[in-house]
Amino acid sequence: MGEIEMQGLEKKYPLLELRLDKLSHNIRETVKRCQARGIQVAGVVKVFNGIPEALRLYEGSGCAHMASSRLEHFEEALAAGCRGPFMAIRIPMLSELPDLVRLADYSLQSDMQVIEATEAECARQGKTHKVILMMDLGDLREGFWEKEELIRAAVKIETAFRYVKLAGVGTNLGCYGSIKATPEKMRELTAVAEAVEAQIGRKLEIVSGGGTSSFPMVLDGTMPPGINHLRIGEAITVAYDLPVLYGIDTGFLHQDAFVLKAEIVELRTKASYPVGEISYDAFGCKPEYTDRGFRRRAVMAVGKVDFALWDHLLPVLPGITPLGASSDHLLLDVEDCREDLKVGDVLEFRLRYGPLAYLSASRYVRVSCI
Ligand SMILES: *Cc1c(COP(=O)(O)O)cnc(C)c1O
Repeated sequence: MGEIEMQGLEKKYPLLELRLDKLSHNIRETVKRCQARGIQVAGVVKVFNGIPEALRLYEGSGCAHMASSRLEHFEEALAAGCRGPFMAIRIPMLSELPDLVRLADYSLQSDMQVIEATEAECARQGKTHKVILMMDLGDLREGFWEKEELIRAAVKIETAFRYVKLAGVGTNLGCYGSIKATPEKMRELTAVAEAVEAQIGRKLEIVSGGGTSSFPMVLDGTMPPGINHLRIGEAITVAYDLPVLYGIDTGFLHQDAFVLKAEIVELRTKASYPVGEISYDAFGCKPEYTDRGFRRRAVMAVGKVDFALWDHLLPVLPGITPLGASSDHLLLDVEDCREDLKVGDVLEFRLRYGPLAYLSASRYVRVSCI
């Protein structure tokens, strides 16, 4: 998607600004640390919804694969001049197999019926396709639950299929079940890999140990041998979760490769507690309000339709606190901000993962790469 032609509108804000040098730095620094431990990186690009300039940075950056959950992003990457290899990381829909085989070189898979249909589609297109069988180690999203069932699937692909090739095994943690990626979980995965290798009589190309939440084991040297691949999105693009939620030192990563810039449309001192009978907000919820007396507040021309999660926006100027949002407005407490703010000023926000995903998909947000 990226920059949208605004029909006749000379729209400046809201603006999603991408600092290419910072994103490029984050890719290289992440890949360098993984490579030093014998780990290949799939650069996961789903969060920024196909911004072509960003996609191009991953090409030739040292990433072994470009990965996304949405096949659209591979089309956009091809259009931007990228050549992959592309790795589809949402287990595929039966209905998208023609596009999967056409666009992706690899996919994560967890269902034998889908893998058989992938083989049939490959035969139709005369193309090979590599699969990584997912093992669910407790996070309860995708993956085989029984190790034996995964091994049977692996053997079947290896022996009975002509177009679908077994590239390896993988797992995903910390998404639905919030399960922590630990050396123990990684050893469970390498045990699965070894069992498959024993059955098929060769080494697997890929043993993929997860995403950003597995990266700390690379940094502190506790990643067990045998894991040779990670699929990293958040740490490269946002770099918020590891330092802030997990207390990991990732000072080598920029947290402002992507920022939101939005404009002040009202600035006024008002009560901080709503006046009247409190019922429901614009989204049918009942938020809590704290009475802090009269406070200076700014109304910004950007809203939940653009970023969804107002409390995951991080104002850059000190003394500014997000208060809440409606579909098209963001409200800030600026009482403690020492800047001389005025209507028309543009404020900058660092982003957590959610707002970046929404902002880059919003047709109301201009994208600018510098
Ligand atoms: C999104 C995703 C990733 C990347 O996760 P991050 O936390 O952004 O690094 C990796 N693997 C799968 C299967 C995913 O869906």
